[in-house]
Amino acid sequence: MSESQMLSNLRVPFGQRGSRLYAAKDVQRGLDCGCHCPKCGARLIANHPKIKRHYFSHHQAKDCPGGYETAIHLMAKQILLDYRWVRTPGKTVELIERHYSEIDELTDQVSYPERDLQLTEIVSEQKEERWRPDLTATLRNGATLFIEIKVTHGVHEEKMVDLDNLLEIDLSKVKASQLSDTEVFAEIVLRSAPRDWHRCSLYDNLERTETNRKRLRTRAEAQYQRWLEATKQERAMADEERRVAANRRQKAKADQKAKFHSRQLIKPLLEQAQKEQRDYLPLPSKGTPSDWRIEGEEVFAGHRSEWQGMIHRTFVYGRPINSVFSVNDVVRHVCANIPLAPAMAGLMKHRQILTAEELDTIRTPDDVIAKYLFLLGLSAYLQPGAHDGTYVVIDRDQNWDPSTILRRPRGSGY
Ligand SMILES: [Zn+2]
Repeated sequence: MSESQMLSNLRVPFGQRGSRLYAAKDVQRGLDCGCHCPKCGARLIANHPKIKRHYFSHHQAKDCPGGYETAIHLMAKQILLDYRWVRTPGKTVELIERHYSEIDELTDQVSYPERDLQLTEIVSEQKEERWRPDLTATLRNGATLFIEIKVTHGVHEEKMVDLDNLLEIDLSKVKASQLSDTEVFAEIVLRSAPRDWHRCSLYDNLERTETNRKRLRTRAEAQYQRWLEATKQERAMADEERRVAANRRQKAKADQKAKFHSRQLIKPLLEQAQKEQRDYLPLPSKGTPSDWRIEGEEVFAGHRSEWQGMIHRTFVYGRPINSVFSVNDVVRHVCANIPLAPAMAGLMKHRQILTAEELDTIRTPDDVIAKYLFLLGLSAYLQPGAHDGTYVVIDRDQNWDPSTILRRPRGSGY
């Protein structure tokens, strides 16, 4: 250790007389100060240089490690014990509310500014659980405040994690020049030195905190109610979907059953129609065009002259020359006015459930009427129209051109 370091080690900012500490300027010069080193107990000399600041030095000591820091530490405690107030840092209380684990948590903060707290009682080095904080104070509301004074940068002691409302005042950056005047140092200790809460519950239950907590709780409750409502609606919708699906299944089953019954009904009708139409009749003889034998004419209940006569009256003679009609017009008109054979009437009622293969085994009214119209065309009563499935009424004597008959209406089946 160098001489200068030794010298500096042997300087102390405050001397102890009796149970109190003093600054060098507040005591008599030299050994008359009556002070001792608060660390090693050696007698101190109060130095009062004319220009430089005042200080203590050891009277007869080779070395006094830690004397400087000990003096600061003890003086800071003495100041707090004397003044009985301290500035505490601001504090932000974090609020968290959650009403149900499936809901996001809501957070809020309540911030309090730094403030000066009166200490109604304050004692030094009072054992608290397994700790011995530098100072233990009682606040006006009865709460306990622990104060730790940090002077050295040395090894940090384990934080006093068990202690609530623990305030640490950091004096490690205090300069030697700030120590010669007790008033200046007191200002630093009480108010301006950096300080921090290790733990602090002083603000947790203050009115403003409680008000915000209540508000947050109300929001969380509302959120929970909304969630509950949404969940209920979701469940209702799911129930409704299940109900609709069940109805659909039931209806499909009913349709299936109805279709099965219809098919049961159709089978004998189809067989009967097939039997009636088994032997096709020969092509038309010449003669009156309302009494031609047409393949499949058994589809109609009465005599062929009834439906053929109707077509003649309504679509051939009954219409002006050059008027156009379609095969479908004729089918609709005839079927609306001429009764079908009983088996055919049943089949046409359930036409949509007949398969294409089944339809191929019989002649329908459409087939028979199309065939009849085709034959009327061959015999020059009609002429195929410009569109498929249409015919034009012609003047048989003047306009008949047999070549046009080669244009067979599509869908006629012939
Ligand atoms: Zn000493």
